[in-house]
Amino acid sequence: MSTPQPIPPYPRSYYVATARELHTAPPLEGEVACDVCVVGGGFTGIATALHLAERGYKVVVLEAQRVGWGASGRNGGQLSGGQRVDPESMEKIVGKDRARLLWELGEESKALVKQRIARHGIACDLKPGIIHAGIKPSHAKEMQDHARSLRDDYGYQHIRALSREELRELVACDGYHGGALDTDAGHLHPLNYVLGLARAARQAGAAIHEMSPALEIVRRDGKPAVRTAAGRVSAGFLVLACNGHLDKLAPPITSTIMPINNFVIATEPLGETRARTLIANDAAVADSKYVIDYYRFSADHRLLFGGGESYRMNYPRDIAGLVRKCMLRVFPQLADVAVDYAWGGKVAITMNRLPAFGRLEKDVFYAQGFSGQGVALTTLAGKVIAEAIAGQAERFDVFAEIPTPRFPGGALLRWPSLVVGMLYYSLRDKL
Ligand SMILES: Cc1cc2nc3c(=O)[nH]c(=O)nc-3n(C[C@H](O)[C@H](O)[C@H](O)COP(=O)(O)OP(=O)(O)OC[C@H]3O[C@@H](n4cnc5c(N)ncnc54)[C@H](O)[C@@H]3O)c2cc1C
Repeated sequence: MSTPQPIPPYPRSYYVATARELHTAPPLEGEVACDVCVVGGGFTGIATALHLAERGYKVVVLEAQRVGWGASGRNGGQLSGGQRVDPESMEKIVGKDRARLLWELGEESKALVKQRIARHGIACDLKPGIIHAGIKPSHAKEMQDHARSLRDDYGYQHIRALSREELRELVACDGYHGGALDTDAGHLHPLNYVLGLARAARQAGAAIHEMSPALEIVRRDGKPAVRTAAGRVSAGFLVLACNGHLDKLAPPITSTIMPINNFVIATEPLGETRARTLIANDAAVADSKYVIDYYRFSADHRLLFGGGESYRMNYPRDIAGLVRKCMLRVFPQLADVAVDYAWGGKVAITMNRLPAFGRLEKDVFYAQGFSGQGVALTTLAGKVIAEAIAGQAERFDVFAEIPTPRFPGGALLRWPSLVVGMLYYSLRDKL
């Protein structure tokens, strides 16, 4: 018997403080054989495990830290449909038919999250509505045109354009020039969602091992196998769901993504009345800056505000101070309000902001690079990976066939070009 390892804590955050289904799973020890080994215990990995276990596959999940420890347990919680890229831009990248298919898959992903929440009774504070807010007249017009084209060309009736005055009635900020309201999108407590999905995956028969970093991928008898510090998993298939934390595990796919740090704060509870004076309909808000400000109220009426920019590998020392400045630019009326929690996470972006799915070998799948819009899409990623492993790869391949240009400079030199690019765009936001 090896000595028990200390359990790594989750980073301090509002989500961890209000987590409902925290569960400690033991690390992998010894040799295990299974049908599918999933590396990564975020939304993607856990949804993959759940969908496969429901189909009767023997699944082992290896999570380096804790379930939901990565972006899945730290994000802004905005549940958006479609894709991160608007349909018009998507048409330029993949053509009209594929763009429509990807839009529909994005919509399916949002519906799937809602179904999973209902089916497994996951208490994750799901609430309706996302407001898109333009910080410049030209951005507002783009958002309004986009809303109209989604209604007219894509038949999506849940979105409507907002004039400057209509937006001001919903959000108590004078800096917006108009935008759009999507009432079928929404927001949720992401850590509670992934913990609920993990419970459902365990109940369906998946084995989840925390504190079990995959150290190396090897092949044994022609099949993929994964080595951890205290064990080894041999599998028929391997799924890599490491996203911004992939690091050096799979060098051929490292430079398709760039992990960038993004930050969130939670204020003290403001009370329902004050919260409604700031966001009248309790929707989430995302603005049109290149480094987006995004915010919403928690179930206990704290403003959860995401934003801020840092171009270093490490987090800045004063995350609360950095993001509070962004919050006060939007809501100067919150100058008296204390910040109770501040944390950071890694957003994995791709060059074209569309997700990067694919196969490293015929039996090694990956899905990553959700580019800041993964709350919904990751659950569908798990479903289409499960379909592909079961022999129905058409929907997985719709994603896998999206071109995924690599960041210039490859895995090592991605950072300098990113820094230059981000500084340029963040300067443009301020002009
Ligand atoms: C601050 C922030 C705000 C965001 N806001 C939003 C939002 O409002 N709406 C939205 O749609 N999206 C948002 N996102 C993006 C969204 O959170 C991600 O797209 C999504 O969580 C990705 O899920 P994942 O499972 O692919 O990756 P992750 O949740 O990052 O999970 C990857 C997991 O793999 C594990 N891992 C890595 N390497 C290994 C290894 N070698 N062995 C074992 N395990 C390993 C990690 O420990 C980690 O738990 C945000 C992201 C951040 C960081």
